[in-house]
Amino acid sequence: MSAAARTATTTTLSVIVPMYNEEEALPALVDRLRPVLDGTGVPYEVVAVDDGSTDRTAELLEKFRTDWPELRIVRLRGNSGHQAALRAGLHRSIGAYVASLDADLQDPPEKIPEMLDLARTEQLDIVYGVRSDRSTDTGFKRHTAGAYYWLMRRLVGKQVPAQAGDFRLLSREAVEALKSLPDQQQVYRLLVPWLGFPSGEVTYRRGERVAGETKYPLSKMIRLAVDGITNFSAAPLRLATWLGVVSFLACLVMIGVTLVIFAAGHTVPGWTSLFVAMLFLGGVQLICVGLLGEYIGRIYTAVQRRPTYFVGYDSAAPTTPNPPPPDQP
Ligand code: UDP
Ligand code: MG
Repeated sequence: MSAAARTATTTTLSVIVPMYNEEEALPALVDRLRPVLDGTGVPYEVVAVDDGSTDRTAELLEKFRTDWPELRIVRLRGNSGHQAALRAGLHRSIGAYVASLDADLQDPPEKIPEMLDLARTEQLDIVYGVRSDRSTDTGFKRHTAGAYYWLMRRLVGKQVPAQAGDFRLLSREAVEALKSLPDQQQVYRLLVPWLGFPSGEVTYRRGERVAGETKYPLSKMIRLAVDGITNFSAAPLRLATWLGVVSFLACLVMIGVTLVIFAAGHTVPGWTSLFVAMLFLGGVQLICVGLLGEYIGRIYTAVQRRPTYFVGYDSAAPTTPNPPPPDQP
């Protein structure tokens, strides 16, 4: 089907692929993804969201599009981050079902037809890709990811599947529900389970990145974790109260000890303990102010209501009969 003839009513499947400087992985991705999607026999679109790449990603995408009409290119004006790229893809996609996939082939595209079948036969709105094996990740990543999912299950609820990243399939209803959320720093792997739609799982083995380097340095991982926690819980703010209570109790004990020593006729040697107590309280206070700042920063961003990305180019925009509504509130 030509790109011009594709409409929301005829496209069954959209596959969103966020990519940032993936020129090395792109040829392998196209080689593996296209036969799988052609083999499903359903009308589909691939929404390649170019997250402000500075390498040859944009050029390669244009080249691949010349003989793959189902490939749609959405280019963001700057590097806006993985979650913002996913958001752009969700807002622009038109399929009745929408899958998301990393560009580095760590998630196998071959599982997408399985996800689609499961969603259709069991009437599910969400099908998670769940990793059965993380042996290809570094020990550090495995441990930090384990701790992260444990914490998230406690904060968001048991419906957060352990070991599910951003490889999943959503129904149109679930996508529309996500689009209606006004959150600024969206963390989809938590928001999707939070929706509470009927869901299923497909397990897969997480492979190695086919080419190139990870685009998720530690700083971006920490950002994602902090976004997740602060989006779903005000518990860190209560830390200040608890630390205050503990310090107060410790202070009462110290008063008792000091009085006993004094009654025994000794003077209390004080410099070290005084200094330690001062540093401890100073540290605790700064941490608490920092936590407050983190939440106030979020309130500030929410009030500003600035878009998290800008679309510079959408290869489907000129031919789409009904242009998609504005992506952002
Ligand atoms: N990505 C993106 N924008 C970013 C960082 C990453 O669109 O700012 C994409 C990246 O191209 C890849 C996916 O997000 O398709 C996951 O990133 P990556 O594979 O580097 O993360 P890792 O698997 O190492 O956690
Ligand atoms: Mg990866």
